[in-house]
Amino acid sequence: MTLTAHDDLVARTTSILDRLGVTAIDPDGDLAARSPVTGGDLVRVRSHSAAEVGEIVTAAHDAFLAWRETPAPVRGALVRELGLLLREHKADLGALVSVEAGKIRSEGLGEVQEMIDICDLAVGLSRQLTGLTIASERPGHRMMEQWHPLGVVGVISAFNFPVAVWSWNAALALVCGDPVVWKPSEKTVLTALACQALVTEAARRVGAPEHLSSVVLGTAEVGEALVDDHRVALVSATGSTRMGRAVAPRVAARFGKLLLELGGNNAAIVTPSADLDLTVRGIVFSAAGTAGQRCTTLRRVIVHASVADELCRRIAAAYGTLPIGSPLDDGTLVGPLIDAASYQGYADALDKARANGGTVLAGGERVLADEAADAYYVQPALVRMPTQSEIVQAETFAPILYVMTYGSADSTDPARDFDEALAMHNDVPQGLSSSVFTLNVREAERFLSAAGSDCGIANVNIGPSGAEIGGAFGGEKETGGGRESGSDAWRAYMRRATNTVNYSTELPLAQGVEFG
Ligand code: NAD
Repeated sequence: MTLTAHDDLVARTTSILDRLGVTAIDPDGDLAARSPVTGGDLVRVRSHSAAEVGEIVTAAHDAFLAWRETPAPVRGALVRELGLLLREHKADLGALVSVEAGKIRSEGLGEVQEMIDICDLAVGLSRQLTGLTIASERPGHRMMEQWHPLGVVGVISAFNFPVAVWSWNAALALVCGDPVVWKPSEKTVLTALACQALVTEAARRVGAPEHLSSVVLGTAEVGEALVDDHRVALVSATGSTRMGRAVAPRVAARFGKLLLELGGNNAAIVTPSADLDLTVRGIVFSAAGTAGQRCTTLRRVIVHASVADELCRRIAAAYGTLPIGSPLDDGTLVGPLIDAASYQGYADALDKARANGGTVLAGGERVLADEAADAYYVQPALVRMPTQSEIVQAETFAPILYVMTYGSADSTDPARDFDEALAMHNDVPQGLSSSVFTLNVREAERFLSAAGSDCGIANVNIGPSGAEIGGAFGGEKETGGGRESGSDAWRAYMRRATNTVNYSTELPLAQGVEFG
């Protein structure tokens, strides 16, 4: 395996940026765009000041005043055009995701496909922003609700879904009548500039107002300037729970709306009846895919004692064959961690797991350091833990899979065992995604029931990662409670007005109140 030479990567990136229409490259810029593939800097860009963020929000708010009165299906035409441009530029944008976020090729392309899918959903939605008609208790009266555009939406996004998360928000916000100001991760600025170039071109083609979409670059301070601006009606923030804890009180202090998509600590319960071939495939993709850097990555397996040894043996064998290396090479399945801090988090977590009595059954080492000293490639780690200790309860954003057992090999009460597994499953602060591998319909249904998984996403015989557009995406507890993408997630981007119309000649009051 050879890692791509850094100079080649810079040349490749520059030509992709040219083709995507990115012009904001500034050799004197204060912000370096780095690639985790080689660990080297690619190009430089300039970050925004707090004052510039304010000016950009002003322009977005002006655009809102026109956009909110544009009929929703006409707004949909902008998103349709964006979807067409994304199809046209899928290969380039997908490759840029791989270069900047370190995702393997199919995942880089998959992320762009997800953008296309949400555009399709949003275009349909632009003719379906429906409200209710409600029976009034008063004769000659009609009650209804309307959904109106909300205002400027501030989007803060994480490095690991550098383009899809923006599109989940932007596609819905734009059809709902809201301009978007986006603060991407400082680790993935080029993909953000590329999306901005495409949406600007889409707006030009359909004659939409300027400033419906903007990007502000920089670190947390730039995000804070956006979060604190009272004209930002909704802050949709995706990232760590630590970030959510900082952002939420600031938005609450000004009574802004908040949509939080924060960390996960996703588990799979594997029961005695599980189809182990399918289970192992599901586990390995969910745990080692994206080098463990998905919010929905599988981090905990809770397996029945009767099948634990067999399952661990098979996962360890699969881990031994995973091709680790440049995400730009065909055949690679595990790319790099994003940076040195991420590697440190991986190494520290493994030390803590060992100190808590854990045994590393597979992986756990850094690789390819000789070829690229500033890039951080690691072997996905499989760790058997005696209990769900403190380190297992925390989200470490790296490929570490902890395995715990439930029940006993000679158990005679499978229902009680399963409830023990559920209790362990829910006993973490996060509540994003979850799964059960079982062929037992009672276990599957109990897992999905009110007494089952407490997560926003609960799957049967599928790992917890790899959600598709159409369902609402998000989670409970420290994951933040937000929902994006499908189902009725669009409502977060609109404000609801309840209207009562009296078409009679009388003025009856509600609840039988008499006045005069
Ligand atoms: P991060 O929290 O370090 O950064 C996320 C974004 O928040 C970045 O743009 C960052 O600049 C910004 N930010 C940080 N502090 C801020 C502050 N005080 N005010 C305003 N903005 C601030 O996260 P990351 O390392 O980029 O991404 C990994 C994390 O994101 C993981 O915890 C992962 O689970 C989570 N994540 C969650 C989802 C989801 O949908 N639930 C999706 C992707 C990632």
